[in-house]
Amino acid sequence: MKETVKILSYIRELFDTPDEFIPLHVPNLNGNEKKYLNECIDSTFVSSVGKFVDLFEDKVAEYTKAKHAIVCVNGTNALHLSLLVAGVEPGDEVITQPLTFIATTNAIVYANATPVFVDVDIDTMGLSPKALKTFLKEHSEQRNGECYNKITNNRIKACMPMHTFGHACRIEEILSVCKEYNIELIEDAAEGMGSFYKGKHLGTFGKIAAISFNGNKIMTTGGGGIILTDDDELAAKAKHLSTQSKVPHKWEYVHDNIGFNYRMPNINAALGLAQLERLDFFLENKRELASKYSTFFKGSEVSFFEEREEEQCNFWLNAILLKDRKERDLFLEESNKAGVMTRPIWQLMNKLPMYKENVKGPLTNAEWLEDRVVNIPSSVRL
Ligand SMILES: *Cc1c(COP(=O)(O)O)cnc(C)c1O
Repeated sequence: MKETVKILSYIRELFDTPDEFIPLHVPNLNGNEKKYLNECIDSTFVSSVGKFVDLFEDKVAEYTKAKHAIVCVNGTNALHLSLLVAGVEPGDEVITQPLTFIATTNAIVYANATPVFVDVDIDTMGLSPKALKTFLKEHSEQRNGECYNKITNNRIKACMPMHTFGHACRIEEILSVCKEYNIELIEDAAEGMGSFYKGKHLGTFGKIAAISFNGNKIMTTGGGGIILTDDDELAAKAKHLSTQSKVPHKWEYVHDNIGFNYRMPNINAALGLAQLERLDFFLENKRELASKYSTFFKGSEVSFFEEREEEQCNFWLNAILLKDRKERDLFLEESNKAGVMTRPIWQLMNKLPMYKENVKGPLTNAEWLEDRVVNIPSSVRL
């Protein structure tokens, strides 16, 4: 592509380096991170009990306006627990999108359920409410107020859309389809910290949601995740399951079911608290970068993935659309060779060996995006 050289030199200009390697996304740890970590070490509270754990939960709940926030060791097990407490049982089906990171799909399997793939919308890269409704119309029937797949006879318990790169999917429409068909809505908001739709934080539309704080996300706890929910009972269940299902007692080890060791340690929460203090700065900085990209790509043969109306995107990873798969591959080849890190969007889940036999609807949009979407450098610039 003729434009590649121009694009790469613009990215170098934005990141102010003529020859150094430019990563896709790196954390920025210049706030109170060291101070809070030192407090953990000095106090000896480095593990899953400590003041930062509770404080971090409170602050994330406050920021997202979710009633409850429950920390986990990572986003993947936050998704796993969300599915369990939302009532997903062995043998159930959970509808999700094929265009996502592997953890979405794996978490469904950890809950002993089966992922079913339904298409995405081109302009959100997230689950399409239209495709969801069409799928349910054709494949499901109601039995005693629950949704069943007519062909497999499995219960369709939940739907788990994902907000791709921090862009909101059509979450309100998805919610209304879920309500109509008696399906629980669980949001994979792993990439959505700091993103809002109609002024409401992503992950606060469905019954329950998970956010990730992995090192490559917009803010990090090293490794970590959090569950958001407004439901008191679900919140209590999630916290209980994440702490080995230990029943409080003065000295006895009482456990009332098979729980997990999923609670985030204090040192990770300390890091998270310091990161959260700077989230608004990160967002402002990244939104400015996105706006520069947007202007640059206007009138180009490459299009920039814009923010849609009513959404306020965190622009965690900026995305561009190339003409076709051939152009995409050429661009990936040239940019990475030139030391500007770029990555394609994920391979569709239904193409991976573990998931190729799963039930799916037509996936035209997901396939179209898979051929064209590339992420370009998106770190906070100082
Ligand atoms: C990052 C991510 C996860 C998993 O989060 P971890 O904290 O890495 O376990 C899940 N789903 C999506 C869409 C993600 O991007």
